[in-house]
Amino acid sequence: MPRPDRLRVDTTSDLTYEPPAALREAAARLPGCPGVYTFHGEEGDLPLYIGKSVHLRQRVLSHLRNPEEVRMLRQTRRISHICTAGEVGALLLEAQLIKQQQPLMNQRLRRNRQLCALHLADSGQPVVVDARSVNFAHTPRLYGLFASRHAALERLWQLADEHRLCGVALGLERAATGKPCFRSMVKRCAGACCGLEPLDAHHARLQAALAELQVACWPYPGAVGLVETCQPPSGSPQPAEGQPRRQIHVVRDWCYLGSAPSLTAARKLDTVAAGFDGDGYLILCKPLLSGALKVLPL
Ligand SMILES: [Zn+2]
Repeated sequence: MPRPDRLRVDTTSDLTYEPPAALREAAARLPGCPGVYTFHGEEGDLPLYIGKSVHLRQRVLSHLRNPEEVRMLRQTRRISHICTAGEVGALLLEAQLIKQQQPLMNQRLRRNRQLCALHLADSGQPVVVDARSVNFAHTPRLYGLFASRHAALERLWQLADEHRLCGVALGLERAATGKPCFRSMVKRCAGACCGLEPLDAHHARLQAALAELQVACWPYPGAVGLVETCQPPSGSPQPAEGQPRRQIHVVRDWCYLGSAPSLTAARKLDTVAAGFDGDGYLILCKPLLSGALKVLPL
């Protein structure tokens, strides 16, 4: 799934444009630590673009030098930033702020509205389910994630072709009972439709094909705090100015609820997760399941 925060670039780049001195000076003063930055526009200080970086100053300066981003720079009146202890905190905060503020120039997929997955039903056939009707954080045998129902079915057909699975056995198409399906006649199905392959064997191959897409269930009974400690830049014993030494990211059911400096403050952030957070899942799945972050029960 593509990252949600791509900046819409302007095809008519302007090589002669120079950002105002005030903007360049503000960018040069940014700290060299991880965090999230916002380009604010003239009208009502509304956010034009929100991004994250492991090095705020370098990243924002690179925006100012990019001729393809002149349209945004012309509208920018100021740049604000929030430092985080590390990269995970920056990723979580960026996704949260983009969702809350919907900046004009973040090319964002509306994936939370129609986030879909394949669910291996008791019948043995995969069915498309969406995050509004099924609790993605706690449902086993879920595979995905997909931005739409169409994308889920397309991936299933792709798996069928790669693994010579039968469209009829998968419930994707109909054929007269016991008759070979069209794909079996062109050797794209191993023949579960017409007895050439036992259904059990077909089902086992389907499960193996889906395994790499498995959505992990939330592995804790409730909310947890993920501890992220800042790594001061080499040669400096101190964090950058404004950078927290340590953050506890509060997460429940893959849903990011906020960050706090202490366990007591973190507990106050624990609320009921509002639906499945696809961004939280994609950001946290690897660092959490691999044990890269220290986890505290709340
Ligand atoms: Zn078939």
